[in-house]
Amino acid sequence: MNETQTATANNQPTMTTRRQFLQTIPATAAAFTIAGQVLLDESPAMAAQVAPLKGHFHPKGKPPSKHTLEVLRKARKKLPFGDKKDFEEQQKGFIAPMEDLKIMADAGHAAWDLERYQFLLEADDFDSIHPSLTRQSKLNMNYGLYEVIPGIYQVRGFDLSDISFVRGKTGWIVFDPLVSAEVARAALKLFQRHVGKGEPITTVIYSHSHVDHWGGVRGIVDEADVRSGKIEIIAPRDFMEHTISENVYAGNAMNRRLYYQYAILLPASPYGHAGQGLGQNVSNGNTGLIAPTRIIEDDIEYLTVDGVPMVFQNTPNTEAPSEMNTYFPEMKALWMAENVTSNLHNIYTLRGAPVRDALRWSKYINEALYLFGLEAEVMFAAHHWPRWGNERIKEILRAQRDLYAHMNNQSLHLANQGVTVNEIHNEYELPKSLQQQWHTRGYHGSAEHNSRGVVNRFLGFWDCNPATLVPLSPSDSAPLYVEMMGGAKKIMAKGRNLYDRGEYLLAQEILNKLVQAEPNNQKAKDLLADVFEQIGYQQENPGLRNSYLAGAYELRSGIPAGEPLKSASPDVIRAMSTELFLNFLGIRMDSRKAEGMQFTINLITPDNGEKFTIELSNATLTNIEGFLADDPDLTITINRSELEQTMMGAKTMEAQIADGTAKIEGDASFVKKLASTMVDFDPQFEIMPGTKERKADVEKADPYEAVPGETIAE
Ligand SMILES: [Zn+2]
Repeated sequence: MNETQTATANNQPTMTTRRQFLQTIPATAAAFTIAGQVLLDESPAMAAQVAPLKGHFHPKGKPPSKHTLEVLRKARKKLPFGDKKDFEEQQKGFIAPMEDLKIMADAGHAAWDLERYQFLLEADDFDSIHPSLTRQSKLNMNYGLYEVIPGIYQVRGFDLSDISFVRGKTGWIVFDPLVSAEVARAALKLFQRHVGKGEPITTVIYSHSHVDHWGGVRGIVDEADVRSGKIEIIAPRDFMEHTISENVYAGNAMNRRLYYQYAILLPASPYGHAGQGLGQNVSNGNTGLIAPTRIIEDDIEYLTVDGVPMVFQNTPNTEAPSEMNTYFPEMKALWMAENVTSNLHNIYTLRGAPVRDALRWSKYINEALYLFGLEAEVMFAAHHWPRWGNERIKEILRAQRDLYAHMNNQSLHLANQGVTVNEIHNEYELPKSLQQQWHTRGYHGSAEHNSRGVVNRFLGFWDCNPATLVPLSPSDSAPLYVEMMGGAKKIMAKGRNLYDRGEYLLAQEILNKLVQAEPNNQKAKDLLADVFEQIGYQQENPGLRNSYLAGAYELRSGIPAGEPLKSASPDVIRAMSTELFLNFLGIRMDSRKAEGMQFTINLITPDNGEKFTIELSNATLTNIEGFLADDPDLTITINRSELEQTMMGAKTMEAQIADGTAKIEGDASFVKKLASTMVDFDPQFEIMPGTKERKADVEKADPYEAVPGETIAE
């Protein structure tokens, strides 16, 4: 093979937005389904391809190699495909299909588009998607209205999550109104047409703090009805605090990492995004939040909601920091929120979050089993499909309980014998009996990244080898590796050799060093992309698959410029505490720009009675609530309701002062000084070296704008 052949497909896509990008891919994915027949790869992989691969969305895309095909073939043999129970349960109770597979956002773009995923139904199997993931994604094509039992209904497939309706005495009780208003509205419409008889919603229950369980609330209820007491909104303990705080401090990094975990840039395709495990994708409409009117405070709380007796079980620090299950004793129905869905969930989430407590998660499932599961006759949840019959429910609850406990216990068992965070994913294995149950397989979490997460939770990032304690940055150590390995040519030759032999993990080791050392070496980036692509095709877990394929995409094309920044939802800003906002300003401040500055500002917000002292000293911004400094350099008095304009980026603090909305006493120049230290985080910072190909600069925002990033579905 030679390098000129591999470098021919050099026409990089020049897109500006994801939408434009998606328009460039073929309208029908039918061509993809025969890929396995035409692309059996007998010749050395890198040499085989001169023209772009038909059906692949990227001109440099490659078919699965014979090694990848072999990995997928073995998985097909090993896994229990004869067990079709999930397909029976997924279809049971079907009432009506979703009529329009595309739901438009109020802003004019598609908020939801299931047409993109129709390709999943056009073949039994794909040679570039792990068969277990194909199976899960086919199961997630269950879009429409379903009866769980008489009196409980679900609309599925309108978003990443399901929306559920429970018959109350005077109307409908809604559990978890999806991510955005437009899809929630469409789901309600379908429900009302067939079952709801136009009767009103009396109550909304948020099962937990992730956005796919509350963001669409404004599509189904009017806030005035909540204020007047007509509609009650119920949520678990500490809901508001965690709803907002989980995504603020590291929000920009989390949003960037979503480009990998959720493959934000990749089209739906057998070579790209092939479902997200929990559902096909996340809707993209208007996200809003109406604060709950009642909080479930007790660990176990009994409450009759619109005539329906319910038992709530708070399960803090499980799948979400604030979450609860619900039992309906009269119907023997158990709602497991997102604590038990049809997969192994994330202990560590790839977008980034504090590692979850697998042992506690397991214990809450066990509690649900012993409190409710011994008599429950139906179990449903916020993703996937229900389970019927007490034996089936107990079987699922026991296996899910054991799944999270095993992950915790066995990872630590190995760690206590010296297995490190850098090895655990190669040592840890689920018990054979759990490997053979579909609902414990890794469609959101994986055994690999979760076991690393457990070790990280207890022992942190360090493997205790001094060589990795304060190591050089990859870009600083890589040039020495490249030199010692004999230079780029040798590494490329060896990399190709390893690629051709299917030794992808070894190939990525050396090619990554080369790319780190030579970020402008496009041939090296292309070869590493080819390696990532094969590893991606082999993954069962969508987050892992997406991450490899997204890495391949960015290595080949660079990071596309200019998806306009979606500003934070006004509801989310309103719900953010002033202290959280001030803490975040401390993060946005580039302390290098604040060297030598020293001042004290008092901030008073009369309408909510708050006061803060904000100090800049030692190039560090701190704040304390409830105190005012005796001798401040500046005092700002502004109503919290007006401050929100500044938090949102709609109006600068200087403008607030200029028009008299904010009253000041002291030296106003300190506002300007503080503003000069603020930095707008780049929502598309570089991850892989040499991938920053900007067409336009990121728009400048008000330096005080909170930009907490979007809330994140999970
Ligand atoms: Zn969810």
